[in-house]
Amino acid sequence: MVAYPDGVPESEVVRSVEVPADEPTQSVIPSLSPSRAADFKTCPLLYRFRSIDRIPEAPSSAATRGTVVHGVLEDLFDLPSAERTPDAAAAMVAPQWRKLLDQEPELAELFADDTDHSRLDEWLKSAESLVRAYFQLEDPTRFEPAGREQYVETTLESGLRLRGYIDRLDEAPDGRVRVVDYKSGAAPREAFEAKALFQMKFYALIVWKTTGTIPAQLKLMYLSDIDELTYSPDERELLALERQLGALWSAIEKSIATKDFRPSPSRLCDWCDHKSRCPAFGGTLPEFPAHALAASAVDRRTENANAD
Ligand code: SF4
Repeated sequence: MVAYPDGVPESEVVRSVEVPADEPTQSVIPSLSPSRAADFKTCPLLYRFRSIDRIPEAPSSAATRGTVVHGVLEDLFDLPSAERTPDAAAAMVAPQWRKLLDQEPELAELFADDTDHSRLDEWLKSAESLVRAYFQLEDPTRFEPAGREQYVETTLESGLRLRGYIDRLDEAPDGRVRVVDYKSGAAPREAFEAKALFQMKFYALIVWKTTGTIPAQLKLMYLSDIDELTYSPDERELLALERQLGALWSAIEKSIATKDFRPSPSRLCDWCDHKSRCPAFGGTLPEFPAHALAASAVDRRTENANAD
């Protein structure tokens, strides 16, 4: 994972939930998720490193904290509504971290040199603050989500499969649907707002295609700023997004066929785990994995079969 520092909008932080653990391993390019699509848009070579070479990235404390906070906000709704209090949520942070550590022991390296646990304590406190901040944005005792950490997937007519995890889905009694995403990073500056909304529209497109209902609202909750961004998508822009994703997928397939993934340097390079192997910074590319072409072809055939 790219080690973004604190303060970088989480709209740019890819959380580990984007690739399901049970994803078939032979499917190197199984489909498009918002993060993978954003990778290619940001830097085609970054997409290659992450999705084709699948080179492991060092964990970052900011992204790991985001995962802990998301876990707490997911589990919070297991409690009876009257017990969903800031103190109860804050008390869930440390156990959530230990649970994550059990699942991903390599995360221990984040605090390997923290012999007196002072950095860990501070980090846990910062996660508790984010969890408490959530309560300033909404009251979780007043509703029951329709879905949490919900895996969603659809196959477009073009054969392109879209997938992702939605933090929370709400459904009003009149059937209106709201897609909610928690961000533990700061609210985006204007330049990043479109990027944050791209992810949400991506989810809206999947929900529309799978349920026939366009979500009435997309809501991004920025916990560190105690701020939120809401948006109501319409059919016209979701259709435009569908076309855009088709074009993006074609570009990815072309890059695979030609083994040509260009670097696209930006300020994000400073936090890119792959800088040392990036030709834009004097690095040498690893050999293009032979399985990428075969896996893509297999996956494409499967998708075509599904489309039939
Ligand atoms: S260092 Fe920059 S240009 Fe190179 S792969 Fe990473 S994001 Fe792309």
